[in-house]
Amino acid sequence: MSSSRKCVFSPATRAEVLLELYGVFCLPKHATLSNVQADLGFAGAGSEDPIVPGRPCGHIFSKGESCFRCKDCALDDSCVLCSRCFHSSDHSDHNVSFFVAQQAGGCCDCGDMEAWRKPISCPFHPLAPHVQEQIEQSLSTADATPRVTQRSISEEIPFIENYPYRVDIPPDLRDLMSRTIAYALDFILDTLDYSPDEATVPPNEADLRLQPSADPMQKDQYAIIIWNDDKHSFDEVIKLITETTGHDKKTASIFAHSIDDAGREIIDISGDVPRLLEAAHSMTKIELGVTIRRAYDTFREQVACVIIEWLLDLTRSRLGADTLIIKEIIAAELLSPRRQENTYFTSGPQIPDLAADLAHPCRIDWLFVYHTRLWKKPRIHLKAIYASILILSHPHKIAIASTTASLTLIFLLNLIVNFFTNHIEDKHILTTPPAKQDIDVESTPFRSKRFMPVFSDLRYLCHNRPVQQLIARHPAFIRKFVEVCQVFRCINPNKRVASNHVEYEADAWISVFNVTLSLSRVIKVYGEAFAFANPTQLVGAITTVVREILGVCTLSTDRLDKEKFSKPMLHDVEFGDAQYQIVDFNVLEGWVSFHHSLHWLLADLLKHVDILSEESLEQIGLSGVRDLFLRPFNEGAILTLIDFPLRVLAMIAQIRAGLWVRNGFPIRGQLLHYRDFMLRELCYDQDLFILQSSLIILDPNIIIVSILDRFGLLSFFRGEVEKSPYEGAHLLSMVEELLYVLITILGERASATKLPFQRAIRREIVHALAAGPSSFTDLAKRVSERMVDDVSFERVLKDVSHFRAPESTSDTGVYELKDAIYDEVDPFTFHYTRNKREEVEVILKNRLRKKTGVKDPVIVPKPLTITSGPFQILPSVLESEALLQVMFYAIYNVIALTNSAGTAPPSAEAILDQTFQLIMLALVERPSVFSHVSVIKPFAEEKKLADIICAMEHDEKYKPYKSRIDWVLTEISKHVPEGVQPPRKVLSPAAPASDVEGVKKRATKARQEAIMAEMKAQHEIFSLNFEEEEDENDQDMDETPDDLSSYGTCIVCQEDLNEAKAFGSLGLVQPSRLLRKHPDSHSQYLNELMTMPQSLDRASPRDTTFPPANAEELDTTSSPNFDGFPTQYTRFGLHASVCGHMMHLDCFQNYNSSIRQRHRSHATRNHPENIHRKEYICPLCKSLGNVLLPVLHPSKAPASQVPFPDWIRAAGISVLKSKPDSVMDGLQFRSGTGEFVFWSAQDPGYGAAVRKPEAAASTKMLDTLMLSSRMVSQQTRHLRERPEPEVGERGAGMYLPEDLVGYTISAIEVAARGTDSSGGIVADSLSLSDTQSRMIRGLLASLTRLAALELDGRPDGGRESVKQAIIKRLLPEWSRTSLTSFSYPLLLRDPFTVLIETAAVAPEMLQHVLILCYYACLARTVIGMVYVLNKARTYTAFQQSAARAHADIFGDVRMFFMSVVRHSPVFEHTATLVFDAFGEARIEKMLFAFTLPFLRRAAILCRSVVPFTFPTPLLGASNVNEYKRLLATLGIPPLADLPNQDTLQTALSGWCAHYGHSHAASQLNCGIVLDYAAVYGIVRLPLILDNIFGERDKVMKCHRCDTVPTDAAICLICGVTCCMASHCCQDELGIRGECNMHTRECGGAIGVYFVVKRCSLLYLYAGHGTFTQSPYLDVHGEVDVSMRRGRRQYIHPARWEEVRKTWLNHGIPTAVARKLESTVDSGGWETL
Ligand SMILES: [Zn+2]
Ligand SMILES: [Zn+2]
Ligand SMILES: [Zn+2]
Ligand SMILES: [Zn+2]
Ligand SMILES: [Zn+2]
Ligand SMILES: [Zn+2]
Ligand SMILES: [Zn+2]
Repeated sequence: MSSSRKCVFSPATRAEVLLELYGVFCLPKHATLSNVQADLGFAGAGSEDPIVPGRPCGHIFSKGESCFRCKDCALDDSCVLCSRCFHSSDHSDHNVSFFVAQQAGGCCDCGDMEAWRKPISCPFHPLAPHVQEQIEQSLSTADATPRVTQRSISEEIPFIENYPYRVDIPPDLRDLMSRTIAYALDFILDTLDYSPDEATVPPNEADLRLQPSADPMQKDQYAIIIWNDDKHSFDEVIKLITETTGHDKKTASIFAHSIDDAGREIIDISGDVPRLLEAAHSMTKIELGVTIRRAYDTFREQVACVIIEWLLDLTRSRLGADTLIIKEIIAAELLSPRRQENTYFTSGPQIPDLAADLAHPCRIDWLFVYHTRLWKKPRIHLKAIYASILILSHPHKIAIASTTASLTLIFLLNLIVNFFTNHIEDKHILTTPPAKQDIDVESTPFRSKRFMPVFSDLRYLCHNRPVQQLIARHPAFIRKFVEVCQVFRCINPNKRVASNHVEYEADAWISVFNVTLSLSRVIKVYGEAFAFANPTQLVGAITTVVREILGVCTLSTDRLDKEKFSKPMLHDVEFGDAQYQIVDFNVLEGWVSFHHSLHWLLADLLKHVDILSEESLEQIGLSGVRDLFLRPFNEGAILTLIDFPLRVLAMIAQIRAGLWVRNGFPIRGQLLHYRDFMLRELCYDQDLFILQSSLIILDPNIIIVSILDRFGLLSFFRGEVEKSPYEGAHLLSMVEELLYVLITILGERASATKLPFQRAIRREIVHALAAGPSSFTDLAKRVSERMVDDVSFERVLKDVSHFRAPESTSDTGVYELKDAIYDEVDPFTFHYTRNKREEVEVILKNRLRKKTGVKDPVIVPKPLTITSGPFQILPSVLESEALLQVMFYAIYNVIALTNSAGTAPPSAEAILDQTFQLIMLALVERPSVFSHVSVIKPFAEEKKLADIICAMEHDEKYKPYKSRIDWVLTEISKHVPEGVQPPRKVLSPAAPASDVEGVKKRATKARQEAIMAEMKAQHEIFSLNFEEEEDENDQDMDETPDDLSSYGTCIVCQEDLNEAKAFGSLGLVQPSRLLRKHPDSHSQYLNELMTMPQSLDRASPRDTTFPPANAEELDTTSSPNFDGFPTQYTRFGLHASVCGHMMHLDCFQNYNSSIRQRHRSHATRNHPENIHRKEYICPLCKSLGNVLLPVLHPSKAPASQVPFPDWIRAAGISVLKSKPDSVMDGLQFRSGTGEFVFWSAQDPGYGAAVRKPEAAASTKMLDTLMLSSRMVSQQTRHLRERPEPEVGERGAGMYLPEDLVGYTISAIEVAARGTDSSGGIVADSLSLSDTQSRMIRGLLASLTRLAALELDGRPDGGRESVKQAIIKRLLPEWSRTSLTSFSYPLLLRDPFTVLIETAAVAPEMLQHVLILCYYACLARTVIGMVYVLNKARTYTAFQQSAARAHADIFGDVRMFFMSVVRHSPVFEHTATLVFDAFGEARIEKMLFAFTLPFLRRAAILCRSVVPFTFPTPLLGASNVNEYKRLLATLGIPPLADLPNQDTLQTALSGWCAHYGHSHAASQLNCGIVLDYAAVYGIVRLPLILDNIFGERDKVMKCHRCDTVPTDAAICLICGVTCCMASHCCQDELGIRGECNMHTRECGGAIGVYFVVKRCSLLYLYAGHGTFTQSPYLDVHGEVDVSMRRGRRQYIHPARWEEVRKTWLNHGIPTAVARKLESTVDSGGWETL
């Protein structure tokens, strides 16, 4: 290779290497074989693989692709399905999760018979016929996992049989291929021999030269490589490269991208060693992965990388139609040993000694070990190669899995030992075991989290069935593992601090717990593996573990710290009538560690009770478990063995009793971990089980005495309370803890019976839910993680509980225990705390009471029912004398202490509860024997257990125990009647009856009194609350329009708001692109109109079930851009909103200056409000605002009684009479539209008017509105389509009546579509609140004020002249001048704007002008429809519509239609064609739909201004459609009545003629665009989240960069996909990300996105933003941020509707501001 002499690797080198490798194929440069084959379609390449039964799918996932896991179908967590296979197979009701492949590599397991519990029946990957039979056979035989029998690992893997596309190849060729591949693999391995494990830079030149190198010349040519670490940003890396190497920014950027892409990059090669070293050192300063090695070695690595690429390509290529042969050859070579020709030079390579652990390491083993020496790209390629070989055949899988498994296992175990004993040299973890294993919990191995993955790898590996068999059957594996466990034995012990507090609270315990709990998870799996063992193997393992434990505990091996631990000694103890020799240890004084990993392992081994049964142990010559332990070890040894867990149990009892308070937080923290619900089964429960096991190995009495001794309670239970080491509350607390342990080891049966896991899960779930309903997450926290992960968990959960789906936007789904299941609840279950137990007891008793009618029911313990295995003898422990003595003194001492103190001491109740539980259990299990001993065996004062119980029976103090005492005594008397009768107090039959009556009465009275007292207390609380509420009501009352004098109080100064001082309502004016125009180029929108409901003010029924029904089917119809609305059909305008709060103008100004003050003092914070935009936050509700609007009450004027024709005539006459008003004419647009210049946002006249001194003070409030409007107007000329005067001229800018007031009312109307108006009209609906109509009045008042400012000389603020001008505009034929001055046809103006102008200056004529405007609207709509339908005429896909439905409203539609258009012949022609094409019924329906919004908007406007003119009429039948209801309310004669309306006809024909003549003269600018008439929607996201990924390259593609974004954000308005915060899509300055860029084109100031990867919503507003909760919930009705849990997620209707509402109500700016206000935000939203 030519360039290799210089060792510079370039793309050309790659091509050369490939060329060399492909040899004879003569491929084009840079091309790969598989691509060329696919392009040529060689032997079927490039097309879908043919379906071959028995061939698995093997689809290799690319990054970002969705993969599915089905717990019900898969054998283990590693089995996944590709989207195609998942969706083609049936998993309804299965526990399915999905995830997005974070990197390329894994493959689909569909069709692999090994991966599934049952056939998943994917049509693309059927099983081979014989396999199908086999599986069916095994399914029918037993519930055993269907699995093909294991074949042994043969040396040579046979060729795959029955492959129909097999090609015969000559042996020569095959041999040549094998040799080439072998050579290539060896080259890779030989190269990697020299590669380093970790990125380090040698400190100096000498060390640099000492690095291992294969360079035969040892040339001083070196290369610097930067490694990808996913920590540093592009910019950081680019900056670093330019600074240290002198490359320019462009080259550096290319490097940075290839580092990210490939995983590493050579950034410099040179012989200038000092310079390179210096550069490398400065790079390591920012902790970037950097290596500097000889260029020769680096070059070889790059070549190796190309070879790997070539190998991968080969796995994708075919020989003829045979797609397997090449993979088979590669597999064979990977599984062969490497040919090593180690010719080392000066410095030897880093070669681990694989032979030490493996008999015959093969190439794949080496590659595995060297995996970490490679980088991202070759690693991914290698994984893909492995994956493609694994799926070749079952033998291949076994061969690869087992060689790697055993290697990995040993490798990982060694790694753990060496890592934690700090046996690390030069950053290489040595692979040989260290001589002495000292462990230091403060050392870095413990502190770094880096090692956690090793444990999970290990656990994952051990889950594998072949590996489990390996572990169970080969003693070497348990020995190796014991070696690992013992490293962590007894680490980090604690000693009680008796006098002063610990000074330094070390937190090493946290990392120790992290490590040992990770280990204990492995222990669990390792222990479980022994289910595959036979008795010999299991006994062997147990003996190994016990011997190891004893070796450590007796300090015969040099493991424990001699300063803290000493050799356990035995001491003699007397208890009852016997003497015991037990271990001597005082927990109050000695060192105790929480960590007993070997005991935990032993516990798991002992749980295989089926293998440890007497029958099976007999086979190997043991008489039972007792024999198993006591033959090799003596009693003392076993006592020593159990003493260590016992010490922990005693210690935690003392900690809980408050005896270790001086040890501070560390001890409490450890306790919390140890007892944590999710973790305790790994430690606490294991220790308890060891203790339970000891009961069946040794004499139970000696165990009980040992426990008493360790707990320091011997004297208490000897009846010598005063000799106890504890006092008072501590003492009784310890007794309570002790009883807990006893109940647990005597009553807990799960491990003792090897309870099937599914039953164990059921038990845990039932108990977790017994206290009340719970969400899935909370439930999962109360159950061990292993159970939650199990496949059956959710099925069991479904069995025992009901699911309540979330209904609102804030609740989550909960599970509720089924009623019948409560019978399974045991309040004394060992996972309950005392509080929980009591809580559940109450629930159970209430149920029993209801069921049986018994007033005080007894919950009798359930029998243990241990029917087989070594624990069968457990119940006999209940006969033990020591235990009887414990029961006796527990009660006796409590009674004595109660009597002496006069009241019950603390814990007394719990102690009695627990003791009765024990007694009752004994009576259930051993009724006869226990009854006898309880009446025979005397203790203190010669009393027996039965005696003291009898004594309690009628004692008032022990009334709560009455029913239990009764039960116990009755049980005993069944067996020994004479034993109970004498001491039991017999009450005379008469007395108790009357007494009972008396008690009952007293009780009833007491209860009544209690209820009265409670009611009184509640009333007080209630009235307190009520007073507050009344205050609020007062406020509301003040705001009602009836009270003219006051408007409520100022939220700043709390003083009255009235005419005395200026005040206003806080409001926000925001730019908006919400309003939509009818998209005339999309025929589906016409179809939508056809199917629209007749009323928009009736709620449309929504499906709110969760998870949505038929989601999968509904999702199959995906549409481009998620049915988003085309951005180009939106209308720009200003939207005003108010929060309802009010302030004095003065207070407002003060408040604003305080905001500016705050901004100055917190300059770095990203404030929720932008002061340049005059924004502020409402101090009360935190709404965003930027204006202060005037507040007025509506007019009380009643409707005018003048009939419409009379009014028109009078109005016309007044116009005729009026004198020419040249000033007024001058104030109208020169374009002849009739609009008024002073109502424009940028009208220069406003500034002039305000500058007049007399105006200044009164315009301050108006100023806020004008400032905000003008600011937006200036920046948005390009978004407006209306003809406007030039900037600087009068009337420039947005026209406020239309662009602000009209826009706002329209938006209110649009937002109200589809919501119920509760029987009235739209203006009555709840969403159109008082606040909104007040705001509309405020906006109109501002317009009035603007007119008055302009015409301030005139009486009435010039209203009269503006009014005249409006009438002239509407009735031009009455005026002498106006026909000439209004060149612009009225029909080209929005009639609603004219109505607003009227409302601002002449509300008294609103009623009549409204009729004119409606007819203008009708005519205008006809014109607009001609334009729309003319475009749509060719569309054929048109909904069939029935006969006419609204003849009563519209009369002769054709006649009206034609009369509108008849003035322009061209237009008339088009209209005729259109009308004939669509027909009268459809045209009518469209006219209805397009004009309904006008009526709705008019109703809102009129109701706000003159409510008494337009009351809601009594409409009687509620099925009257909205159109008719509105016409009636507004007093508008329907079109059907037009023939009777002469005046209207005249006006109409005038307008139409004007339009027609203009159109005839020039068709330019005569188009009319209609508003979108239907209910507004956001995009339609799939109902199931993962369906987004299904066709992601089709639906989620960024149009800017044409890729599927790594972090996709879907615009919920238009459905476009953006690259969020990505380097690829930014504006030129690199400031704004694509979401922000798109927002400008789409929503304007606001953006709403669904961020797919984060699984949340993104709201943007003017450079600010916030993430909010996802509309998707998982099956449990809970959110899953970033898809961490990976459940399938479904859209939640209420949450989704909430998003739509927020957007529709213009709520995003406030939502963003509120979020920013509540958090400390540092900004950066514009980069998204
Ligand atoms: Zn597949
Ligand atoms: Zn499949
Ligand atoms: Zn399934
Ligand atoms: Zn005030
Ligand atoms: Zn507010
Ligand atoms: Zn992009
Ligand atoms: Zn958009």
